[in-house]
Amino acid sequence: MEFETLLLHGGIDGDKHTGAVSVPIYQTSTYKQTGLGENSGYEYSRTENPTREALEKLIADLEKGTAGFAFASGMAAITAVLMLFKSNDKILISNNIYGGTYRVLDKIFNNYNLKYESIDTNSEEEIERKIDENVKALFIETPTNPMLGIADINKISNIAKKHGLLTIVDNTFMTPYLQNPIDLGADIVIHSATKYLGGHSDLLAGLVVVNSKELADKIYFIQKSTGGILNPSDCWLLIRGIKTLSVRMDRHLENAEYIVNALSKNESVNKIYYPGLSSHPGFLINKKQSRGAGAVISFSLNEGYNVNLFFKALKVIILGESLGGVESIATHPATMSHGSVPYELRQKMGIVDNLIRLSVGIENKKDLVEDIENAINLSKI
Ligand SMILES: *Cc1c(COP(=O)(O)O)cnc(C)c1O
Repeated sequence: MEFETLLLHGGIDGDKHTGAVSVPIYQTSTYKQTGLGENSGYEYSRTENPTREALEKLIADLEKGTAGFAFASGMAAITAVLMLFKSNDKILISNNIYGGTYRVLDKIFNNYNLKYESIDTNSEEEIERKIDENVKALFIETPTNPMLGIADINKISNIAKKHGLLTIVDNTFMTPYLQNPIDLGADIVIHSATKYLGGHSDLLAGLVVVNSKELADKIYFIQKSTGGILNPSDCWLLIRGIKTLSVRMDRHLENAEYIVNALSKNESVNKIYYPGLSSHPGFLINKKQSRGAGAVISFSLNEGYNVNLFFKALKVIILGESLGGVESIATHPATMSHGSVPYELRQKMGIVDNLIRLSVGIENKKDLVEDIENAINLSKI
């Protein structure tokens, strides 16, 4: 089956008992057993639930993995994956990793002596140098947030394989429609399904897909033991969102390219960060490993423009956290997602105070460009 068909008919297609086209919400905590040790395959909803199972099989199909797992949020999914490791293990992470991933490592797992170190994913030499006997995994994102840096998944997973390490890829920004890390050699794929997979800014969810039975058994054990599962209603809502992923993404991409083109011609714009631009340093790698550049754009305004005035002047685009929804959302990385990063480090990362990150939605692209141009004009000081 091709991807667009899998979105609708992958995993468990409909309900085997009634023929219902939409998998029902099995809103139940427990299941009637017919005798000791005799049950329908379902015993308790932390361990298994048919609605969750449908979602988990679907994401496994979409990411071409062995098994999928659904969690209450992207961070619950990341936490479950990090529980694969033990005290004194070390994980190498992209130096531009999602802030929440950094925080859970730095402030929570650190208490259990699970170590981490950041790497420049574009420097093979640095990665090789930082691998020692304690390093057990490489955890990367591509593109990164908010600078849209690109890492070569195949190259990194080859380094990992050579040293017997796991490669973990947070594929939130790309979705399986645009990028399949397992095909490129990754062992574990993570999604904040809160973003594009859900797609409608109406739920939080996290998904994990693994490429082996061994990893599947381990994650299943962590999931049932620690219990950060996604509830049946939100599993249903997420399945519903996933059905339209390809049509939404096509529009997200079309709009993003249109906006990038308009920003490129705008003299008030200083820099544009978008891996679909041939001038972007990761352009060729991204082209090789994915089917598109995604729909998150960062750009900075020239001196003499005030970003707060820009955000206040937006009429269609929403100022807020998150990304990947049908509505366009603008964020201010310096005070929002990266507010806790010290000023000097932010400058080094390129997160200057007049940097704007845009998650391009599926509105009419002309309305979006008009909104942005109008807001830029009104932000001149
Ligand atoms: C949002 C996000 C997360 C965290 O997901 P939640 O659903 O908010 O817990 C993790 N990784 C990336 C890349 C994200 O954008």
